[in-house]
Amino acid sequence: MGDRLHTFNGGIHPEGHKAESSATPIRDMALLPRYVVPLRQHIGTPARPLVQAGDKVLRGQPIGAAEGYVSTAVHAPTSGTVIAVEPRAVPHPSGLFDLAVAIESDGEDRAVDFTPLDWRNLDPSALRNRIRDLGLAGLGGAVFPSYIKLNPGAQSIHTLIVNGAECEPWITCDDRLMRERAAETLQGVAIMAHALGVKTVLVGIEDNKPEALAAMAAAAPAGVEVVAVPTRYPGGGGKQLTYTLTGVETPTGGRSTDVGIQVFNVGTAYSLYRAAMLGEPLLSRVVTVTGHVARPGNFETRIGTPLADLLTAAGGANPGAVGEIIGGPMMGFDLMDLAAPVTKAVNCLIVKDPVHFPPRPAPLPCIRCGACARSCPADLQPFEMYWFSRAKDFGKAQSYNLFDCIECGCCAYVCPSHIPLVDFFRFAKSEIWEREQEKRASDQARQRHEFKEFRLEREKQEKAEKFAKAAEKQKEAAAAGPAAAPADPEAEKKKAILQAALERAAKAKEGVTPKNTDHLPPRVEREIAEIDARREQVVGKEGGEG
Ligand code: SF4
Ligand code: SF4
Repeated sequence: MGDRLHTFNGGIHPEGHKAESSATPIRDMALLPRYVVPLRQHIGTPARPLVQAGDKVLRGQPIGAAEGYVSTAVHAPTSGTVIAVEPRAVPHPSGLFDLAVAIESDGEDRAVDFTPLDWRNLDPSALRNRIRDLGLAGLGGAVFPSYIKLNPGAQSIHTLIVNGAECEPWITCDDRLMRERAAETLQGVAIMAHALGVKTVLVGIEDNKPEALAAMAAAAPAGVEVVAVPTRYPGGGGKQLTYTLTGVETPTGGRSTDVGIQVFNVGTAYSLYRAAMLGEPLLSRVVTVTGHVARPGNFETRIGTPLADLLTAAGGANPGAVGEIIGGPMMGFDLMDLAAPVTKAVNCLIVKDPVHFPPRPAPLPCIRCGACARSCPADLQPFEMYWFSRAKDFGKAQSYNLFDCIECGCCAYVCPSHIPLVDFFRFAKSEIWEREQEKRASDQARQRHEFKEFRLEREKQEKAEKFAKAAEKQKEAAAAGPAAAPADPEAEKKKAILQAALERAAKAKEGVTPKNTDHLPPRVEREIAEIDARREQVVGKEGGEG
């Protein structure tokens, strides 16, 4: 395969710093007294909380359900009591809090019953739904819900690429995973290939990981090709790895699925193995702790573990530490609060020291040297995007394919003027998204108003038509004469009562009292009887005297 590899443009060769954390096996973290599980850990809609303060939970119990299509579930990392469902610190560059479930451990770590998935015989859609309910999301950084990526949908997927490149400096969690759990990871790959219905499976690993390459190649079944790719940042970017392995370019503004290729991270494959073969939700992941710490390495870390505890597990920060980074130094961000927990997206915690992470020099004016463009793996013109982003001319920035920028940081890394280019690109993207959201909201409000106007107009019209019809009917009835007028049951009833009263009065006048008084109340009957008796007395007297 090596001779068939393709070389993407740009890229850089920063110092790897892999050896610091890759030398020792993955360590399990001890059970902690407390965990904090954010409900937003994936791309899309946050999970809907299923528990409240005071609830007892077991390890693996769902505590948040997938909400909407782009979403996935979250689970309790241990057994215990929910002590709060409230905003807590989360690992995010903004430093803002987000809704999370805080659990106090009971120390027993009791689990729900896990049921392995009969993945070979399950209906594909049922399999995907189970994967969604088990909370699987991409562990390579994007945290896109895995069940969606496993749905080939209308697109015809012919190739599965498994990303073991791990090109960011300092991070070694995938390296250790492949070295230690190659067979299990490849079982996860087999399930992915089955769900997607693909025949071609390529596992791309940078050639600075010879042990991982050897372990994966030894465990790979027939049909899975393990390929060493050159070490060059950002060779593990989805589009870059796709190009390196296949020579197929992902179109501007598109995804690799547009060209029939799906890409998954090795960590995601391993979590799929645990989900399918053991029935276990995504409860933990491997996280690298490195940099200025006493005992750097990789840790099997439960989701929800406070980063302060993870740091303690690595022996704590060495004296002189100047902060922490979540992720790698190229694409990561400064951590604002060590109380924030490990989420599905967290692959690395770097403790900074002033030598490897000196303060960023003050930026100087752009000299249009073009170094940024030469380093860009997405073939963009960063200095143009910078000018327009800085001038808030976002339309122009977008016309330079701003959204094809993968924020790899190569341009800023090589810029002799130390311009924080990626910060400008992130700012421009978020402004454009915000404006689009505002536009969408105002479009929706306008549509709602227009529909209300339409409904009122329609109701007015319907009323007018009804009146016109009634008037027409009345006119027709009047023209046809009273006989033709339709009988009004109420008027007929009144007429009958009146008629009966007149008849009774006439009979009374003739001296005949109606005897049928069944319908009259007893008091009235008695009065009528008395009147009749008096009348008969009078008549009898008159007759006797006469
Ligand atoms: S590398 Fe820096 S100075 Fe050179 S063109 Fe790009 S932004 Fe300007
Ligand atoms: S951050 Fe964006 S513009 Fe800069 S090199 Fe990477 S892809 Fe190109």
